[in-house]
Order: sequence, then structure tokens, then C-alpha cells
Amino acid sequence: MRKNVDLNEISDGRKYRSADMVKAGCHDCKDCSSCCQEMGESILLEPYDIYMLQGNLHVGFETLLKREAALGMEDGVILPHIRMDDKERCPFLDENERCSIHAFRPGLCRLFPLGRVYEEDGFYYILQVHECPKPNKTKVKIQKWMGVPSFGEYETYVLKWHNLIKYLQEDAKEIGEELLRTRNLYFLNLFYVYPFHTGEDFYPQFYARMKEFISKTGISFPV
Ligand code: SF4
Ligand code: SF4
Repeated sequence: MRKNVDLNEISDGRKYRSADMVKAGCHDCKDCSSCCQEMGESILLEPYDIYMLQGNLHVGFETLLKREAALGMEDGVILPHIRMDDKERCPFLDENERCSIHAFRPGLCRLFPLGRVYEEDGFYYILQVHECPKPNKTKVKIQKWMGVPSFGEYETYVLKWHNLIKYLQEDAKEIGEELLRTRNLYFLNLFYVYPFHTGEDFYPQFYARMKEFISKTGISFPV
């Protein structure tokens, strides 16, 4: 979710939780791929996305970087995103304008046209009302809309990841350039480049890496 936006302008003004019903159902995106085009660098990829892409496409992060992904800098933290092609289309769109990785698409694609608003110790969902042009949307339960297994665990991870990024972005303002460069490289390797064991549960692997990151960098971030 972009910062400094007026929620009343972009949403229906309601706060939703995962068990809530929301009018986001867009009829299976029939004849539309609008949110898969001209998205710039906004579709950020998270470790869970990489785990899913690795397990289903059977490629490592470095191969993704040569093809469908690119690196960007978000307030001092290095983060990968989907790389739009030279026609500003997502490289995962197939010849019929459908998502070729629908079953294991990134979390941000799953969320759309919902958004998340983070609070001190959690987040809620909003319905972005100007993003998806499909008329007559149907009501869907958020948890079902997202379609991620073990959803409680997923939400806990999403919040942890968000908080870590936020912490690192704040810290990036305080530390020197050399340390920032070294930390970003370590961050990238640990959370993205080193392959996940895709036959095993994601979460224990993620938390082990997070623990290692905190211990090696000495940051005061709670696991
Ligand atoms: S804009 Fe809406 S209908 Fe079109 S592809 Fe995106 S979610 Fe589907
Ligand atoms: S990964 Fe799939 S859903 Fe996401 S932008 Fe690309 S084509 Fe669209």
C-alpha cells in the first residue's frame, strides 16, 4: 500500500479482516488483464513468492532475475519486483492475456484490488475502488480470495516481513553507505538468492533465516 494516501479517496472507507466478505470478485478477470500491465516496479516479490515460483517453475532466483524479475531500491532496502516487458506487460501474461502462473502468482497479485493498511501491531484490508474496472463485482471472503493455505500463518508472516522492511528502511537513514551496501547484499542473498527447500514447509525456513539475519547484523528487531 502506497504511503500518504487518503483512504477515503481510494477505498470504500471500510476496514476488512480475513473472514469478512468484500465486493472484489471480478468474474474470473474475463477479457481483462489491466492490472497485469503498466505496473512499473510496483509488484514487489517477497520470500514466499520466490519459494512458490522456485517450486513451480523449477528455477532459482538468479534465473528469475535474468528473465521476469529485477532489483529495485525501496527507501534504502533492496527489493525485487516483477519486470514489465518492453510493452509494459507482465512477462507472465500468456498469449491469451491470462496469467500463466495463476496458481502460484505473487501475493500482491492475489491481493488486488484489495490493499493492506498496516497499524502498530497488525493490519486490515481495504477495497480499492478505482483500481479494477470490472463492473458488478461479487462478494468474496477475503481468505478465500487470497487462496493461500494456512492463512493465519501466512498473515503472521506478512506482518513480520512488513515490519522487518519498515525497520530496515528506518535504520537505513541512520547507517553509513558501506554498511548499508553490505547489509543489503546479505539481505538479498539470505531471503532471495539462497534456494528454499520447496518440498518443505516455507515458514520454518523463513523464520530460521530471519533469526540468522537478526543475529548476524545485530539489529534489535524481535523475531
Ligand atoms: S483489473 Fe480487475 S478484472 Fe482486470 S485483471 Fe485486474 S483484477 Fe482482473
Ligand atoms: S504474475 Fe500474473 S497476476 Fe501477477 S501481474 Fe503477472 S500476469 Fe498478472
